[in-house]
Amino acid sequence: MRLSHLSTLSLLTAAIGLSFASTAQAAQSDAPNLSNAQFQQCLDGLKNSSKFRDVDSYTFNNYRPSQPDPSVIASLNYQPEFQKDVWDYLSSLVDTERVDDGIRANRQWADTLRKIESRYGVKAEHVLGVWGVESNFGQTLGKKPLFESLATLSCFDRRQSYFQGEYANALKIVQNGDIAPSDMTGSWAGAFGQTQFMPSTFLELAVDFDGDGRRDLVNSVPDALASTANFLDKRGYRSGEAWGYEVKLPSGFWAASNRKDKKSMSHWRNQGLTLANGSPLPSDLSSAGLLLPAGPDGPAFLVGKNFDTFYSYNASESYALAIAHLSDLITRESSSKTDFITAWPTDDPGIGRQESRAIQQALLNAGYDIGAVDGIIGDNTRTAIQQYQSSRGIFPADGRAGQKFYRAIVGNTTHNNSYGNQYGQPANSRPLNPAPADRMGQLIQQQNTTPNSYSQPTAISPSNSGTTRSMRYRRVAGTDGVIKLVRIDEGS
Ligand code: CA
Repeated sequence: MRLSHLSTLSLLTAAIGLSFASTAQAAQSDAPNLSNAQFQQCLDGLKNSSKFRDVDSYTFNNYRPSQPDPSVIASLNYQPEFQKDVWDYLSSLVDTERVDDGIRANRQWADTLRKIESRYGVKAEHVLGVWGVESNFGQTLGKKPLFESLATLSCFDRRQSYFQGEYANALKIVQNGDIAPSDMTGSWAGAFGQTQFMPSTFLELAVDFDGDGRRDLVNSVPDALASTANFLDKRGYRSGEAWGYEVKLPSGFWAASNRKDKKSMSHWRNQGLTLANGSPLPSDLSSAGLLLPAGPDGPAFLVGKNFDTFYSYNASESYALAIAHLSDLITRESSSKTDFITAWPTDDPGIGRQESRAIQQALLNAGYDIGAVDGIIGDNTRTAIQQYQSSRGIFPADGRAGQKFYRAIVGNTTHNNSYGNQYGQPANSRPLNPAPADRMGQLIQQQNTTPNSYSQPTAISPSNSGTTRSMRYRRVAGTDGVIKLVRIDEGS
């Protein structure tokens, strides 16, 4: 839904996942200079244009930005520096934390979800799958002021006409009294609220389900969940159908991935396909197409019409698969194993956000300025990983955060005392080639940690100080398992 009418942007979001944070980081360095005079002149023109006919002048003037936001133009033209494999995309999006959050949400909102299912015919787990992938169950709504973003996109660069419509629609939402103006924040492109609807989608499909007279997709979970169900319903959802199944291809079977080429289940049965666990294919899908996200050697899926409704939310098959998979794991209440039955065709699978945060913390500790530890492996983190790999002779230096790199930099911090340090190097080993200001590189030479002592002072010397002053750090494991170096005697 979010950008499905914007093919370029959809490919963009598909390629980088939902990590708007990484585009924001890129945006700061690549933001263009925009003329405010030109911006204000453009807004004067918009105010009197047909698209803004239904926006009253009080509303237009009251929320008129005083200057453009160049970072959204940088985001519009952002090209990811690194390609993301489908298994990395899925691992980061459908991880243990998100499944646990989904299981909790399923219990907390059980009554509401039941009512939504009876009104719209959409299964609770499918609504939860969308909610979890779109906004992490309402936890990640985006912080960009919508009027600034949309006004800027309306006046500069590509797609101005499209964004002018969305800008006008955003103003209408506030004018109608559905959403408080202060709640009008979202992604750089204008998707907002717990369902991450674009303003036009909001006006078309948002519903008031808690009965307070406002369609509040920011603060009302019932409104958000019902609006998601309404979206899926209007896009052709089939009540009572599964989204599809992970399947097993018979040996020697070859077919191209083509989700749209739908065939009956008996057709697929006759071709020798079974469920991934070997059971016969069920008959509860009216038709299904074959989806092979990583080719014939990876996980295979038969997907029905309901999968297509997930796809219509964001025009990416990986995205739709994340929703589908998350909904299955929530139903099964299974968060310990988030993999598919068939492994991805790689010897270095992806990682979840917990591992990503641990990698980021280790990079920070090693002196790489990657910004905040947010569990999102964006360009800054990947560049730092690449530098770290190069400096230590780790091959390939591809900047990718997979399980191998996780083990290399974080290591195993729970099992025994021979693991050495959090880079997974043996105790007393020396770093291959310490990066400048690599405090952890210094620490490596003195490593003597015991597994159950999470707060052990370790004396190290600053690498570039040229003095004999020593600083002391202690290693502290947080509740999330991330080990941090905390300086304990600064200036001593
Ligand atoms: Ca409401």
